[in-house]
Amino acid sequence: MNDEKKNARHKASMEKQKAKVDSNIEAADEERGVSILLTGNGKGKSSSAFGMVMRALGYGHKVGVIQFIKGQQLSGEEIYLKNHCPEVDFYQMGTGFTWDTQDREGDIKAAQDTWAVARPMLDDPSYDLVVLDEITYMLAYKYLPEETILEAIANRPRNQSVVVTGRGGGSALQQLMDTVSEVKEIKHAFQAGVKARLGVDY
Ligand code: ATP
Ligand code: MG
Repeated sequence: MNDEKKNARHKASMEKQKAKVDSNIEAADEERGVSILLTGNGKGKSSSAFGMVMRALGYGHKVGVIQFIKGQQLSGEEIYLKNHCPEVDFYQMGTGFTWDTQDREGDIKAAQDTWAVARPMLDDPSYDLVVLDEITYMLAYKYLPEETILEAIANRPRNQSVVVTGRGGGSALQQLMDTVSEVKEIKHAFQAGVKARLGVDY
């Protein structure tokens, strides 16, 4: 095929694609907040959520971030938000659930205390974006009742968006959420013996 023919074919295919995209854009005319679940066993769930935090902040939106896990180290996003974005309401589970704890009662108490901070945000229309980082584990271990969390997400203010991260989460959560993305591990540096990297992994 000569270049002229190739170009003509490319142009025709792009025009077709554009028509499809335009008609999809026209069909999506509902204006409201969205609920997003980022799940799967690959790297990129929490960092994607923090990418959306940045997007929201770019438009001056009000953001709440609740982390349902206590990391051994402070994560870079936590340090940055605390130091540079005092307007973001950031809460990390204080004590309790880490991969090291085996104290179920203590974990449940910590989960409940953390949920007590998250819940009012899901009732408050002044929040444009609420991130519930790693909350899926609270469901998996039954530290928090599934119905309570699903009900709060479902009944949040119309203009509020919510991002949930964590592996699993269950089919009811997947059904409820507007957007569900699964990050699939192809490989991870850790398996090749590379240490978790400051500023990249945490
Ligand atoms: P990130 O915060 O980097 O976006 P994540 O939220 O998708 O990761 P989590 O399951 O919350 O993943 O794990 C957090 C930490 O574990 C990060 O340091 C991440 O790099 C690391 N991690 C994520 N997936 C894997 C994996 N498949 N194997 C090893 N380590 C992983
Ligand atoms: Mg994560």
